[in-house]
This record gives sequence, C-alpha cells and structure tokens, in this order.
Amino acid sequence: MSEELHSLENVDLADKILSKYPICNACLGRFFAKIGHDISNNYRGSVLRQHLKNRSKSIEKCWLCEGITDKIDHFTNLIIDALKNYEFETFLIGCKIDDEILKKEQEIQASFPLPFAESIKNELNREIGKKLEEKLRKTVDFENPTIMAVVDTSYDVVDLQIKSLYVYGRYRKLVRGIPQTKWFCRICRGKGCRRCSYTGKLYDESVEELIAEKLLQKTKGTDESFHGCGREDIDVRMLGTGRPFVLEIKDLKIRKMEMSDLTKEINKYAKGKVEVSNLRYSDGEEVVRVKNAEFRKIYRVKILGEKSINIEKLKKAARTLQGTTISQYTPSRVARRRANMIREKKIYACNVDSVDGNIATLTIESESGTYIKELVSGDNGNTYPNISELISIPCIVKELDVMEIKGE
Ligand SMILES: [Zn+2]
Ligand SMILES: [Zn+2]
Repeated sequence: MSEELHSLENVDLADKILSKYPICNACLGRFFAKIGHDISNNYRGSVLRQHLKNRSKSIEKCWLCEGITDKIDHFTNLIIDALKNYEFETFLIGCKIDDEILKKEQEIQASFPLPFAESIKNELNREIGKKLEEKLRKTVDFENPTIMAVVDTSYDVVDLQIKSLYVYGRYRKLVRGIPQTKWFCRICRGKGCRRCSYTGKLYDESVEELIAEKLLQKTKGTDESFHGCGREDIDVRMLGTGRPFVLEIKDLKIRKMEMSDLTKEINKYAKGKVEVSNLRYSDGEEVVRVKNAEFRKIYRVKILGEKSINIEKLKKAARTLQGTTISQYTPSRVARRRANMIREKKIYACNVDSVDGNIATLTIESESGTYIKELVSGDNGNTYPNISELISIPCIVKELDVMEIKGE
C-alpha cells in the first residue's frame, strides 16, 4: 500500500476489490479514505477506476451501500426539516445503517489489507455534519451537543435527543397545604382513577407545577423535573429569601428567554402561593450541588401547649437548647421514606419571641435536616432533649415557617 492514491499497488488492490464486489466510486474511495486531503471518497474512487481499463464503467447498483452514499443531501434535508422548530447552538449527527450493509462492509475489510479505510458510518456522519454546519451556521460538538440527531438511513426517520434546559432560582412558598413536588395518586400512579378524581395526583397543585407551568409553555418542553435544596413539609411555609432549586425542562424547543420576563410571568401565574427570584440558566452539575447541599436553617415555630406556658420556663428551655446537640430517632411519619437511625443535630440558636396563654412563638436556627416538629413534641422520647420535656408541658407545632436557608 502506498500513500499515493493511484500507485500501482493501490490500483491493483482496487482491481482485486472490484473483481469480487461491484461497488460504487464512493464505496471504493472509502477504502482509501485516508490518502489525500480535501477530496471526496467519490473522487478517490473515480481516480482509481480511471486507471482500470476493464472496470472503468461506474457501477449503477452498488453491492455495498445500495446507494445511500448518494443520498447525503437527502439525509441532510431530512435532518434540517426535523430540526426546524428547535433552538440550538451545537449538534451532533448519528446514522443508523442497515445491518446488512455493515456486514458487507466488514466482509470486504476482512478480505483485503485496508489500512487507509474509513467506515461508511463515519463518512455519512462527517459529510452530513459538514453540510449542516454550512447550511445551519451551527457547529458540531462531540462532547456536549444541544441536539443529537440520529437518522435512520433505511426508513428516513430522524430521532432527536435534546439536552435538558436547567433553570436555577429560589422559591418562597407563601401558603400552607402545597407540597413541593407533584405527588402521584398512590392507587393509579398518575393514570387517573375515581379516588383522585381522574387527576392522577394527590394534590391539585405543587410548588413544582406552579413554577414549571410557564417554563413548559415558553420552552415548548414536554416534561420537567424539580430538584430542590431540601424540602419543607406540606403544611410549612417557605419565607425569607426562599429555597434554592433547579428546574430541569426536558424535550424542549425554545431555549432563549429573558429571565426577568420569566420571573414576572411565573409570579403572576402563582400569585399568592409561590414566588420565585434569582432565576438564571444552570446545568446538570448544579442539580447535584443543590441536592446535596446542607445548609443551616432558621425557623419560626408557633407551638401549642396542653396548658398555659410559663414564659420564664420556656426561656430557660430555649437557653438549654441553644448550642446543644440533640439526638433524633427517625420520626414515624417519615420512616417510610428514610432509614431508621439516630441523627445528631446541632441547635445553633433558640429564642422565645412571644408567649400568649398556651401559645408561644420561637425562632430556632438549626443544622440541616433537623426535625423541628419532633424537637417540640419529643416524639415519644425519640427526640432528646425536647421542648415538651424541658417545660414539662406536652406541646405540638401549630405553625412552622422556614425563614432562611443560610449559606447559599
Ligand atoms: Zn456504494
Ligand atoms: Zn388515582
């Protein structure tokens, strides 16, 4: 084999290949693809064929590719059509080629020494990619394309794999009774049944849906995932500067948005229930960061005692708790979702704001993951120390608000 295309060696090899397999110029040239620059495989094939007197007539029906290498423009147009409603900067092309053709390619490659060959798949991907870069003025990205388009060359079908869009923000939940994420009906698991009035859901609304609705509309996305930095219970409000989250929009078409407009639209749609701020574009890595982040939290806790609460006694309890580490055995209300174990949690601050009869309000700053309801009630001794025991009056949390998530 020589690196000069029409060397005696190469011409002889081309002759041998053609004597056994009637293939087109593009397919012949592909077996010499790494010889010479800036010429097409079709051209390589035609040069070799010119040097073969007996075989100078080009093949009409190629034994190998069945004509798909002549259809690069056709596949390019198919992809352009499939992409026409999508916003993207970078892309990558893939081809699905009939197994029969791939087998034939392997057969030829196994029969001759062909160190300069490239695969038909490689050629199609590259050539279609080049044409698309020109026509669409976008670039190929092998690592992280916005859209991957795979054309099935047997059936003329284009399959698109679209990179999710991520939006970071903080949310405030202004009312009680809304879960953070969508809860599917336990009976029908989302399909809709009599029990859930055919909504498929346990709750009509969630923070997730109230935020995602406008984003799905704007991006023409088909699905989403909500990734919160922890979560508050359904009956707990999220106030202050809000809780960090990343919303992932899947299978979307439109990616360019003014975050200030989006903020306004979401806040109008979710008015009185949920409010978002600090919206910006994000990525999959931030999902991991936000989900694993552990931040101190400040709570406002309204507690209800079985009888009148003595303010001095409560203040003393608050002083005892401040700076201490409590032990919490997994509460029964979450035992289904969490492993049973003892968690040690630091209480950084505990202050009494007001006492009125059997109702008192406290502000508590604690480590991420502290069960505040159990810190108040004691949860049958599963949390120790606890407020009920310290003031010798059984108490429960009447209202709980997260006032601040620190550190983000
Ligand atoms: Zn061919
Ligand atoms: Zn149901």
